[in-house]
Amino acid sequence: MPTDYDVVVVGGGLAGASLGAALARTGIRVLIVEREAQFRDRVRGEALQPWGAAEARELGFYRPLIEACAQETRWWTTPEENRDLIETTPSRLGFLNFYHPEMQQHLLDQAVQADVELRRPTEVVTVIPGNPPTIKLRENGSEQQITARLVVGADGRNSKMRGWGGFRVSRDPQCLTISGILYGDLPLPEDAIQFVLDPGAQRLSIIIPIGGNRFRAYLCFRHDSRAPLTGTKDHSAFLDLSVATGAAPEWLENAQAIGPLASFDGADNWVDFPYREGIVLIGDAAAASDPSFGSGLSLTLRDVRVLRDHILREQDWHTAAQRYAQEHDRYYASLHRIHTWFRDLWFGVGAEADEMRARALPRIAEIRAGFRISSPRAPMPHMMKLRGGACLAVISGIFGREPAWSKDIGCDIKRDPALGSGAADRPRTMNSG
Ligand SMILES: Cc1cc2nc3c(=O)[nH]c(=O)nc-3n(C[C@H](O)[C@H](O)[C@H](O)COP(=O)(O)OP(=O)(O)OC[C@H]3O[C@@H](n4cnc5c(N)ncnc54)[C@H](O)[C@@H]3O)c2cc1C
Repeated sequence: MPTDYDVVVVGGGLAGASLGAALARTGIRVLIVEREAQFRDRVRGEALQPWGAAEARELGFYRPLIEACAQETRWWTTPEENRDLIETTPSRLGFLNFYHPEMQQHLLDQAVQADVELRRPTEVVTVIPGNPPTIKLRENGSEQQITARLVVGADGRNSKMRGWGGFRVSRDPQCLTISGILYGDLPLPEDAIQFVLDPGAQRLSIIIPIGGNRFRAYLCFRHDSRAPLTGTKDHSAFLDLSVATGAAPEWLENAQAIGPLASFDGADNWVDFPYREGIVLIGDAAAASDPSFGSGLSLTLRDVRVLRDHILREQDWHTAAQRYAQEHDRYYASLHRIHTWFRDLWFGVGAEADEMRARALPRIAEIRAGFRISSPRAPMPHMMKLRGGACLAVISGIFGREPAWSKDIGCDIKRDPALGSGAADRPRTMNSG
């Protein structure tokens, strides 16, 4: 049956804009509907992990993002070491960092250049699943109805597409709160992420350079330990807690906020098998992973690349979307499992958690001499003081499991005696000389 478009994408964020551009470049007729007239700072992800940067490269966005608004960030700095990510990751890439609204706008521009039709500010008010699915839009007070072969829900962590599509949403119990703020001009290098974890206090602090002397600072803590930090009234509490967690006081003593302080619930929420009757979900709409572990952008770009590949491979898009949904279930489950281990190990409370840490931390320290994960597409959660493979291998041992995750995510862990400690002889801050 003829439809108005091949693909209608609901939402023009990272997921929607990058998928729209990737499909339109191959001649597919795409409409993106975005309700915001202009993107603003909503305190969203700005540090794309090396495995996500590899997905951006495969999608053809890596260099254009650097030319437009992103920066490569080579160093992962903890109190113990400076890890050279380019030397020690399977993708040989560092983090790709950016100011989120600039990244969104750039990708939407790329989509339009690739011949995507963009309607903005326009809101999708409902989608009716079917063959073909129908989309109702509201623009300038009037409503319109259109059809497409496939509707892509890329409408973020509070997705309404899930409800319209009849998807069942699963949620983890609430455990962590993440608070974030943007600072200008901190006395820190612009090519290093500063990460400090205090498992004793169940808190972590991370400061991410995003270019132009801007730094996104996050603080993660157990949600039952205190109220969320929001607005100017909580600025000094944010600074005090960051320093109490281990951020150096001199980093933050003259910190000037240049964006809002906002807090978010850290629990994952997701749908199983994100495809039904002409509606496919990607990005946070498919699975919003706990932002405390900083994988959402990477997961989103993996969704985009996997869905694009299946659509380009299959004549029948019903089959393509089903294959994507199957694959999504597998890689998201692996990532979710790894995040759960980190959450339990770093943020668990009580005697059992203390005992686990007492066993784990010395063992992690013992094997920091070097493991390597060899896989071009291995998710590499960055919440670790050690090399990815080492930390994950130890954790899988502690939890008494086979490292099945390594098969799920296609990794091959090898002990690599050639790898040193990874600690480079490098100052921790610009001031420390
Ligand atoms: C505090 C915080 C920190 C984070 N930090 C990191 C990090 O360091 N690293 C990392 O990898 N990830 C991080 N993330 C996660 C990351 O931000 C998300 O995974 C990513 O932004 C998801 O992109 P998306 O396109 O799926 O959703 P979104 O970016 O939310 O985009 C959805 C778009 O859909 C539009 N929309 C919604 N409904 C409609 C509608 N009905 N009609 C039309 N348009 C609509 C919205 O306006 C929006 O533009 C963080 C998240 C949070 C909350």
